[in-house]
Amino acid sequence: MTKGSRANRKHIQRRNELTNTLREKGIRDQRILMAIQAIPRHTFVDTALENRAYEDTALPIGCGQTISQPYTVAAQTELLQVEKGDKVLEIGTGSGYQAAVLCHMGAKVYSVERHEELYHKAKKMLHELGYRANLKLGDGTLGWSAYAPYDGIVVTAGAPVVPEDLIYQLNVGGRLVVPIGSQKSQVMVRITRISEDSYEEEQLQSFKFVPLIGEKGWD
Ligand code: SAM
Repeated sequence: MTKGSRANRKHIQRRNELTNTLREKGIRDQRILMAIQAIPRHTFVDTALENRAYEDTALPIGCGQTISQPYTVAAQTELLQVEKGDKVLEIGTGSGYQAAVLCHMGAKVYSVERHEELYHKAKKMLHELGYRANLKLGDGTLGWSAYAPYDGIVVTAGAPVVPEDLIYQLNVGGRLVVPIGSQKSQVMVRITRISEDSYEEEQLQSFKFVPLIGEKGWD
């Protein structure tokens, strides 16, 4: 039996409770709630943590990293305003869960992770669940220029400043969602490319992410 097939009634019930919690916390996009209801988050964490997989909390995934809190995944996805067929780049694949949510919503997903162990684990899990995301091992602060431009770019680690390569890899009309701040707390920033050379920036809620480490991130 694969990890991906470990679904049972208890997990489905707990996913229903989780989506109700996210709705109460203000998540409105029904497609995101449906994705979270459908995806077996417990398969993205170690067996020892499975019973906590449907709590609205971040959990360790190894290499000192975390699978983001479900509310954070939903909030970032809502800000991205993903439409079916959109090309979306994620920086910080981690467990692969956010990539699964984006795939489930019909996006063409590209995702970069700097830890080799996490990259291989996420690749295996997404494949087992039937999600066709394109994953790369490398420094995501430089984006993934080979497939640019993107309709959406989501950074799932906290950056000291907006990595400029990511801005240039946005399509006109595209959205970049990135937490910016110190290593202790960040403000979610959304940058929309209005035209070839103009951008609009919005500063939103506060969050706490693990640091974005790389050439255009933290040392
Ligand atoms: N999106 C992930 C998920 O659904 O599990 C959660 C990501 S975790 C909060 C942040 C991830 O960003 C970590 O796996 C970390 O290794 C990765 N990361 C940090 N800096 C990076 C960089 N420069 N390039 C790619 N990944 C990076």
